[in-house]
Amino acid sequence: MDGPQTLAPIFARKGSYLFLAHLHPDGDVLGSMLGLGLALMGQGRRVTLAGPHPVPEPYRFLPGAQWIQQWKDASGSYDVTVLLDCPDPARTGGLLESVRERGTTVVNIDHHQDNRRFGDLNWVDLSASATGEMVYDLLQYFGWSLTPEIATTLYTALVTDTGSFRYSNASPKAFRIAAHLVAEGAAPARVAGELYEGRSREDLRLLGQLLQRIETSADGRVAWLVLPSELAGNQDLIEAEDFIAYPRSIRSVKVALLFRELQPGQVKVSLRGKGEVNVAKIAARFGGGGHPNAAGCTVALPMDAAKAALLDAVALALPPTA
Ligand code: AMP
Ligand code: MN
Ligand code: MN
Repeated sequence: MDGPQTLAPIFARKGSYLFLAHLHPDGDVLGSMLGLGLALMGQGRRVTLAGPHPVPEPYRFLPGAQWIQQWKDASGSYDVTVLLDCPDPARTGGLLESVRERGTTVVNIDHHQDNRRFGDLNWVDLSASATGEMVYDLLQYFGWSLTPEIATTLYTALVTDTGSFRYSNASPKAFRIAAHLVAEGAAPARVAGELYEGRSREDLRLLGQLLQRIETSADGRVAWLVLPSELAGNQDLIEAEDFIAYPRSIRSVKVALLFRELQPGQVKVSLRGKGEVNVAKIAARFGGGGHPNAAGCTVALPMDAAKAALLDAVALALPPTA
């Protein structure tokens, strides 16, 4: 199926709705679930918002963020369960599976190319810059009004998934939608302030030290940063900083990587490309996924081995130098 029209009968139902976020929630999943969740509440529906991880500090300003519950297990029953920005049901940390056991209609709305189409209803639009863009289309299709709160949530989804409208997915449509959302009450300066200007002086000092650790390949086409394990205690800094933007910002770099040890023997890897290499394919080989220019995976290896494996895979994926 494709397009909001097929979802219309589901969202016309008066029943109970559950929204589930993906692991390590980002601005797109949070903005999308709050945008659609607030719109459904405005239509008088019962809405529950939950996810396997807490809402990171920089996103707590989002209208409705205080209602998002952190669940280890799902126990209730819901008529409809909505997943947004979630290509793989495993990315709910087991929550979808347990809700499904008790019977529910699963709606899957996403923009990832590797979406597994696990829903009873699936709407996957690879051309959407963010899932928030699809939620905008949905609300427009239903004729549901955009409150300033909803506009703020969807605008945040667009800003974060397009890297503040700097990445290749910043399409004319993304800008048109953003213009409309701003007209309806999203405040760009406030959103940017909340997302990017929440640092303390100590955070900035730490960031300075981390930047010294960026490494590059001999040919300058690959750059990476290993977050030291001492940083694990500073979760707010980890969630607020787009660390991978720094190795990526080197002109010669075609692929940037960020390595973070979640626990000994488990490393989260983020990959970013600039069009030359499809980093989603590399991440997929390590059990992850994502978009051609932004992907990730979690590997069960010690840091040194994870680094070697990923850097080898990236070197092989790069075209030979002349
Ligand atoms: P990140 O590097 O965590 O910002 O993620 C970048 C992109 O990769 C996002 O579109 C994620 O959906 C995807 N991604 C990150 N980690 C994983 C993973 N472990 N499995 C599948 N996709 C992932
Ligand atoms: Mn996401
Ligand atoms: Mn997204």
